[in-house]
Amino acid sequence: MATDELRDRVREFLSRYDPTRHDRSEFLRARFDAGLAWVHYPPEFGGLDAPRALQPVVDEEFAAAGAPDNDPRSNGIGLGMAAPTILHHGSDEQRRRFLRPLWTGEEIWCQLFSEPGAGSDLAALSTRAVRDGEDWVVDGQKVWTSMAHAAQWAILIARTDPEAPKHQGLTYFLCDMTAPGVEVRPLRQITGEAEFNEVFLSGVRIPDTQRLGSVGQGWRVAMDTLMNERVAIGGGNTTREDGMIGVVADTWRQRPELRTPGLHDRLLRLWVEAEATRLTGERLRQQLAVGAPGPEGSAAKLAFARLNQAISGFEMEMLAEQGLEYDDWTLRRPEVTDMTARGPGYRYLRAKGNSIEGGTSEILRNIIAERVLGLPAESRADKDVPWKELPR
Ligand SMILES: Cc1cc2nc3c(=O)[nH]c(=O)nc-3n(C[C@H](O)[C@H](O)[C@H](O)COP(=O)(O)OP(=O)(O)OC[C@H]3O[C@@H](n4cnc5c(N)ncnc54)[C@H](O)[C@@H]3O)c2cc1C
Repeated sequence: MATDELRDRVREFLSRYDPTRHDRSEFLRARFDAGLAWVHYPPEFGGLDAPRALQPVVDEEFAAAGAPDNDPRSNGIGLGMAAPTILHHGSDEQRRRFLRPLWTGEEIWCQLFSEPGAGSDLAALSTRAVRDGEDWVVDGQKVWTSMAHAAQWAILIARTDPEAPKHQGLTYFLCDMTAPGVEVRPLRQITGEAEFNEVFLSGVRIPDTQRLGSVGQGWRVAMDTLMNERVAIGGGNTTREDGMIGVVADTWRQRPELRTPGLHDRLLRLWVEAEATRLTGERLRQQLAVGAPGPEGSAAKLAFARLNQAISGFEMEMLAEQGLEYDDWTLRRPEVTDMTARGPGYRYLRAKGNSIEGGTSEILRNIIAERVLGLPAESRADKDVPWKELPR
């Protein structure tokens, strides 16, 4: 499909659906049904089978018409991770049930992967799912679950075969967060906020129709989710001076009294690095337009985390005492993480999480070392040992 043809389609849709006269959800549902949600998806699931690279054309036309968007920041896990996983591994029935309310933001998603004893080593997880008739019964504990307090649905990995080696005995489910037995408790962060939670699963019944992929194939499905996660976290900014470097560069321009030659030199280096990272993200998006995410997503996420921490550290140093003033320690349950909306102290503290969330920087370096540079792999002595025999 050509760019002009796509533009015409959006304009024709807007001539029938005036965004000022329609309710937000109704408008978004109609946009999905017209195939103008994510254009690279199949026609029955919000797309047009068009090249992914054409998505910005659609988004620009809707934005120029003042149309509501689906507030992607409040459903990042849904849009960035659950949707592509459901598209690739789900049945048609699952795609029909879940993708539309996910895209419109009527159903928010969270990710029940990490556990107290299994974060980086995700395949070591011990939350178990036991088959009982048409259902699975799930028991266990998850941790660091962003947005669990707002989510209707979760992507969940659980152990269904403790006799199998750790990567082989896992199965992937779609879990209803309002089901009996799901308990969500806030975890307060270093920033004072509680973006994430502990989630306790006690006898939670999940119908087999909410299994994604085959029994025992959960690891393969989860790998797709994680590769999409790194792209979603690392491939963000699109315009020059977007994000934290923009905030810091503005302060630099407006507050000449803060400048020193040493800071000047460092700011220039950070600015160049931010621009290189942005352009790498752009290249990643172009690669994605022609295929699936690969280890490039890990590099983008690693660079994003390192840079955010370096820029927020620079900002604190530039602002000296003023940088140390913290704006608000009230316990909040934010629906989005906005690094630029609050003060330098918040940015500095929140950026610490960037090198942990979505895979730690150490793990991403391992991935790059092994899959990109071809260096020898870490020894994995537990690879073929039944999970139940592993020391815990
Ligand atoms: C803000 C935030 C939001 C999050 N949101 C979610 C969410 O929504 N859902 C979810 O499931 N999880 C979420 N997480 C959890 C996150 O994915 C895990 O914290 C992360 O994967 C690390 O796991 P861990 O905390 O168990 O650390 P560990 O795995 O115990 O690691 C501890 C340290 O050891 C290092 N290490 C471990 N193994 C190796 C190795 N083989 N080689 C070198 N170094 C190693 C790690 O890099 C790290 O520095 C979130 C975390 C944060 C900070």
